[in-house]
Amino acid sequence: MDEPCKAMALAGWGRYKPAACHVYRPERRDALLSLLDGGAPGPVLARGLGRSYGDAAVNRTGSVLDMTRLNRMRSFDPETGELECEPGVSLSDIIAVFQPRGWFPAVVPGTHFITVGGAIAHDVHGKNHHRDGSFSSFVDSIDLWTPALGVVACSPTENADIFWATVGGAGLTGVILSVRLRLRRVESAYVLADYERCANIDAVLEAFDTTDENYTYSVAWVDCLATADSLGRSVLMRGNPALPNEVPPGHAGKPLRTPRRLNATVPFDFPGFVLNPLSIRAFNETFYAMSRPAKGKDVDYEKYFFPLDRVLHWNRMYGKRGFVQYQATFPPEGRAGLRAMLERCSIARRASFLAVLKKFGEAGKGMLSHPMRGYTLTLDIANAPGLVPFLGELDRILLDHGGRLYLAKDTVAAPATIAAMYPRLEEFRAVLHRVDPESRLNSDLARRTGIGLPARETHDV
Ligand SMILES: Cc1cc2nc3c(=O)[nH]c(=O)nc-3n(C[C@H](O)[C@H](O)[C@H](O)COP(=O)(O)OP(=O)(O)OC[C@H]3O[C@@H](n4cnc5c(N)ncnc54)[C@H](O)[C@@H]3O)c2cc1C
Repeated sequence: MDEPCKAMALAGWGRYKPAACHVYRPERRDALLSLLDGGAPGPVLARGLGRSYGDAAVNRTGSVLDMTRLNRMRSFDPETGELECEPGVSLSDIIAVFQPRGWFPAVVPGTHFITVGGAIAHDVHGKNHHRDGSFSSFVDSIDLWTPALGVVACSPTENADIFWATVGGAGLTGVILSVRLRLRRVESAYVLADYERCANIDAVLEAFDTTDENYTYSVAWVDCLATADSLGRSVLMRGNPALPNEVPPGHAGKPLRTPRRLNATVPFDFPGFVLNPLSIRAFNETFYAMSRPAKGKDVDYEKYFFPLDRVLHWNRMYGKRGFVQYQATFPPEGRAGLRAMLERCSIARRASFLAVLKKFGEAGKGMLSHPMRGYTLTLDIANAPGLVPFLGELDRILLDHGGRLYLAKDTVAAPATIAAMYPRLEEFRAVLHRVDPESRLNSDLARRTGIGLPARETHDV
């Protein structure tokens, strides 16, 4: 039977310029395979939960395959923590099932509303990159459908080049059909966190460099409207997994239980005037003032790792025009660039709320994986007139200091910018020549940035 297809407007989480797409939602692997084998016209692209901010999961000239119904967990080995699952399983599904049993994903980004397929396709990082690397460090193997080779089993030791092109490869090497990944044992649902105020960017970088190794998790919220001696003032939140005897008294004896809470929802698009430099400055001032230094505070995992998930549809706060998230990673010697970027943002008064700053450890082996040793700054920027030239200025600063953008977040960068930032791009394209020489897989991101193979004729759907 033909799979139903729905025409709908799709965008990334930033809701920047949605595009009309043709979307299929297969529920079974054989239905997915028949779509891939020709049932879905034009170039095809898998999509997870659409939490990439830019156009990585958008494909306006062809078909989008929504993977979220392919969400079965197949097996779990309680000795090793290895879970075998379909790619549409979300991190929230995994946490709901395994966290109460004492297992947790080893790497989580700032939201649990992402699929395992999406986590691999961007090789996502968490607050523990300096210790543990990125998501792929815990992926044992994948089955990947490719246009030229059919279904290929890949791992760090089998078809390793295809594996490392797929990790961070933004869905362009094939469609992941199943995954084996390792979960990590946890003894409680809490992190024991230290909160520290840092007066400016130098203080926070100093803290990262001298004491980060004492912590499994580390992140700083930066006030990017602060200026002069306060430029980059931050609240540093670092922590370690709590032991059963370190959880709040009410949870003693049940350390894996989390507090019940209701999520708030942003019910409609906010009008443009709600977010303006004055309201943002007021918010940042209050946040900095209220974040009192604390040692060993027990914070449940949801509050520590996923604070934004507690407000459903928070992206509507930016109104109908949406916003972009700009993630810039500077190498250790690029500190001056980081400072220059913060200065530019505070003068332009464009970046909103609090930015996030983390320290990355060593780069992994993914050819287009984003993390590399250094500091990564993440800014939310509303879509307002002058946005694109402003981002161009930030790109220039980043390029001048040997940094790179993150493809999961990028929205407007040009091909030359991305090529200069990802030195293994040709190696990645060599794999594409083998697995998909005719570009059956494609995306708006690939067409815009040129990371795929040169364009060929596309079919109208
Ligand atoms: C609030 C918030 C916080 C975030 N914090 C972080 C963070 O701390 N660290 C971080 O690294 N990222 C972070 N992100 C980004 C997010 O983790 C990534 O963009 C992730 O890839 C989204 O997964 P998804 O399931 O929504 O995939 P989508 O956004 O739908 O798709 C992402 C990519 O995966 C590909 N893909 C999806 N499924 C498959 C499949 N089965 N086979 C092949 N390719 C596939 C798509 O083609 C696309 O290229 C955050 C996003 C949000 C909204």
